[in-house]
Amino acid sequence: MHVVIIGGGVMGAATASFLARHHGVAPLVLERDAAYRRASSALSASAIRQQFSTAINIRLSQESLLFYRQIGDALAVGDERPGIALEEPGYLYLATEGGAPVLRENHALQTAHGARVALLDREGLAARFPWLALDGIVLGSLGERSPTSGEGWFDGYRALRAFRDHAQAHGARFVEDEGTGLVREGARVTGVRTASGAVHPADAVVIAAGAWSAPVAALAGFDLPVRARKRDVFVVEGPAPLPHCPLVIDPSGLWFRPEGAPGRFLCGAPPAPGMDHDDVPLEQVDHARFTDFIWPRMAERVPAFDALRVTGAWAGYYEYNTVDQNGLVGWLPGTENVAVAAGFSGHGLQQAPAVGRGVAELVATGRYQTLDLSPLGVERLVEGRPLRERNII
Ligand SMILES: Cc1cc2nc3c(=O)[nH]c(=O)nc-3n(C[C@H](O)[C@H](O)[C@H](O)COP(=O)(O)OP(=O)(O)OC[C@H]3O[C@@H](n4cnc5c(N)ncnc54)[C@H](O)[C@@H]3O)c2cc1C
Repeated sequence: MHVVIIGGGVMGAATASFLARHHGVAPLVLERDAAYRRASSALSASAIRQQFSTAINIRLSQESLLFYRQIGDALAVGDERPGIALEEPGYLYLATEGGAPVLRENHALQTAHGARVALLDREGLAARFPWLALDGIVLGSLGERSPTSGEGWFDGYRALRAFRDHAQAHGARFVEDEGTGLVREGARVTGVRTASGAVHPADAVVIAAGAWSAPVAALAGFDLPVRARKRDVFVVEGPAPLPHCPLVIDPSGLWFRPEGAPGRFLCGAPPAPGMDHDDVPLEQVDHARFTDFIWPRMAERVPAFDALRVTGAWAGYYEYNTVDQNGLVGWLPGTENVAVAAGFSGHGLQQAPAVGRGVAELVATGRYQTLDLSPLGVERLVEGRPLRERNII
């Protein structure tokens, strides 16, 4: 069976790894930049959580966490056991009076699905995180480690490389080339044309082109609502480490988490209202947003951050699903053999193992064998059934 995957980021590489190892199908992966300079998988904050508001996102992150915990075994190549430096100090969502009911509702859903999440009142928050200033905060929810759940962060680029190396060791071919055309026979695609002039035969095609998936889907006649939306990440150094610091989500949208050396943090926030445009060049990190919005809120929430300094910054694209900010996974409507895995809107790295496994099952066997990913099916766009996720960062 000839499978061509367009895009060799974490989604394409994970799909290739599962196809090659578990289904005996060695795919061809077209990746136009083997250095991954603009790939989201190389520019991510690489965090993982179960604090979502939809069952499918909770399950996807739970199953992917279990995979990432034992990635050294799962993706070993000979004696080489890949590591991704997974840490699990949790996510801490903070809520004002107005946001507390939603936090409680989400908490009920998360715990019903086996995620261990603690609700903390002001006293509980003050006892566990004495460095937090709780002005305006009435409630927090903290993801805790258990055999079936856990939250934190890891090295996303290493996860991508581990999938890629594993896929190649099991016969997948990664070719540095751009998919530019599809050979179509009605609703069937029989080949993929590339920028170099090659035509690769295909029994099935997987679109895993991240923020650039819409132009590829357009080649198959489908208007995929996925756009490249820039997100900035700032590296800061504070005067001191914050003991047991999780990834903190402030009601303002600000987030921060420790990174590497003690006292170093990553932080960010969504763009200012009205400023979230498509295809803003990655070179244009919005430093004014840091000065005007992020830093003041960080210092409000953690007074010690008053004295921080910025030591670095970068930007990457969310592959942003403009309809409902959730992954679009499955067969592309109007086609017989073109699948897609795109549109994860800021939570793709943490879902890649379970999504890659599911897409491999769908392509190789015609249906999902383990976790049913049909809630993320692309038909929901055509049928006007958006899958709303409240917890988008
Ligand atoms: C700043 C930032 C923070 C994030 N934080 C998190 C987080 O905390 N947790 C989380 O889970 N996720 C996070 N994400 C999202 C996560 O990084 C993405 O969801 C994930 O990496 C998407 O993987 P992908 O393989 O679909 O896309 P990519 O990694 O972008 O890979 C797509 C690849 O397709 C290639 N390509 C495109 N078009 C073609 C073509 N026509 N032919 C050949 N190749 C092509 C590109 O070169 C690219 O390498 C974040 C993203 C950003 C930018």
